[in-house]
Amino acid sequence: MGVLSFIYRLLLFLFVFRLAAVVLRAFLGGFLQGKNPVPTPGVQGSDDPSGTAARGRIEELVRDPVCGVHTARSSAVLGRFEGREAYFCSEECAQKARN
Ligand SMILES: [Zn+2]
Repeated sequence: MGVLSFIYRLLLFLFVFRLAAVVLRAFLGGFLQGKNPVPTPGVQGSDDPSGTAARGRIEELVRDPVCGVHTARSSAVLGRFEGREAYFCSEECAQKARN
């Protein structure tokens, strides 16, 4: 019984613990939501605001360059600021950016 067997048992324990956590989360997620128990990784990086909103995920916040307010991307007004696309909190701010 040396260090190796201790490390082996530790790794085995961590693996089982991790597995149990995943199974438990999938079970609880399926129980609470009734569908889609396993969250799909890498979705938050995609450029699909409609799909993001449909899944009820936390929305990406965009910063209004005119007034500095942070707004959810789906409710922000898309416009142009200093030659590039930008999101604004309101039509008023988008209008200010154009002038
Ligand atoms: Zn604004």
